[in-house]
Amino acid sequence: MTKQYDYDIISIGGGSGGIATMNRSAMYGAKAAVIEGGILGGTCVNIGCVPKKITYYAAEIVRSIKQFSADYGLDASLNGFDYETFKANRESYITRSRNFYKRSFENNHVDYIQGFATFKDEHTVIVNGKEITSKYILIATGARSFMPNIPGIELAENSKDFFGWDRLPKKLAIVGAGYIAVELASSLAHLGVEVHLFVRYEAPLRHFDQMIQENNVKALKAEGVQIHTDSILKEIKAADHNEKEAHFENGYVDHFENIIIAAGLTPNTDQLNIEAVGVELDDKGFVKVDEYQVTNVPSILALGDVTPAPKLTPVAIKTGRTLAARLFNNQPQAKMDFSKIPTVIFTHPSVGTIGLSEEEAIEMYGKDEVKTYTIQFRSMYTALGDSAEKCSIKMIVKGKEELVIGLHIVGQGADEMLQGFAVAMTMGATKADFDRTVAIHPTNAEEVVTLR
Ligand SMILES: Cc1cc2nc3c(=O)[nH]c(=O)nc-3n(C[C@H](O)[C@H](O)[C@H](O)COP(=O)(O)OP(=O)(O)OC[C@H]3O[C@@H](n4cnc5c(N)ncnc54)[C@H](O)[C@@H]3O)c2cc1C
Repeated sequence: MTKQYDYDIISIGGGSGGIATMNRSAMYGAKAAVIEGGILGGTCVNIGCVPKKITYYAAEIVRSIKQFSADYGLDASLNGFDYETFKANRESYITRSRNFYKRSFENNHVDYIQGFATFKDEHTVIVNGKEITSKYILIATGARSFMPNIPGIELAENSKDFFGWDRLPKKLAIVGAGYIAVELASSLAHLGVEVHLFVRYEAPLRHFDQMIQENNVKALKAEGVQIHTDSILKEIKAADHNEKEAHFENGYVDHFENIIIAAGLTPNTDQLNIEAVGVELDDKGFVKVDEYQVTNVPSILALGDVTPAPKLTPVAIKTGRTLAARLFNNQPQAKMDFSKIPTVIFTHPSVGTIGLSEEEAIEMYGKDEVKTYTIQFRSMYTALGDSAEKCSIKMIVKGKEELVIGLHIVGQGADEMLQGFAVAMTMGATKADFDRTVAIHPTNAEEVVTLR
């Protein structure tokens, strides 16, 4: 360790990215510390992926009972949802996960410093009034929900607030069109909430393949979500009975118990005294980094949600581990590959997606170079009764060799299906490689290796 500094590397932020980077750096022998101003674990474990996925599972159980159990001859009925018990169990699971992080710090000899950090200079931060110096300082402070600057916005909430609720509202507005907005809409509709989803343009999930957008809209409507398109929130007013009156630019007005804004993220760069070190930010305030996660100040690095990278936990973790390998494990060329990132949208049914959408592929390679294979079918799980739910798969291939450059799956089991196919695509699989693979029968996944 460089004697000049207290540490080799410190992370401002103890979320997915900061924890992974410090643990891996310490495993390689670096003296490392995590500084966390809020709750250890950051967004994912406390107010993101984990409580969201547990809520998704609750909704899946409801869906099985209500929609499919009778088809299997089961006399099952739903006699209530004890939200208090659900929330308490969800919280204790999260507490256990948080304790796991503390143990990992002990095992790897990472110092954990509780407090809010601000920059003093390019090697020094101030935490709880004390200076801490380090050869490298990692900005891994994540991002928070963007809240539009409109009258009455203080009456609105975000996904973080949702996880704190003690009961579910009867009628809820969700403003947003990204994956978090549709996931909350889908799960809460299954849990009995009247959900209104307000999207700015013609459909949610506009940045995903058209096939995903269309099927998602169908599924949301089937579960009772009311989708309001071309709707921009203009103002919120307090109404009687603790309700909120939402006004939209197109003239629509309605009352809701709660209004959740899930319309993008604001990076946590505004309270770091970042001006003191002159780290460059982009026009939205995200930290600009090069391909090795280095900012314009050589000793200051950044990764995860505070940068323009895809906002996903495994992306933050992998970027951090790659960075640790470059800095402390003699891999000077190591850098994160952001090109093929699999991701799941936890709606009901779920969506799995990796690589380019058809629209992106055509734009990138031209129509003649791009071919698609698609199938739509009824999953055996839903096929015993009269459910109209379908599984849809789209594979996008490029050139004569039919390199697989996109794979999109909507349907029962898509969430657990995609990871293995992502390995194949990361290795550069072609359509012929998928064809050579023996199917597993009877599954929905077998359709991916038998596409015609
Ligand atoms: C509702 C929701 C659902 C999600 N679902 C998924 C999902 O299913 N799958 C998935 O992959 N991703 C999901 N995500 C995204 C995922 O949570 C983030 O991509 C991930 O947490 C980013 O990690 P990070 O380390 O960059 O930031 P964070 O995890 O946000 O950690 C940043 C930490 O820095 C701390 N901090 C900030 N400023 C300071 C300071 N000055 N000093 C000290 N500490 C500071 C914060 O308190 C925070 O703990 C979801 C997010 C949300 C909001």
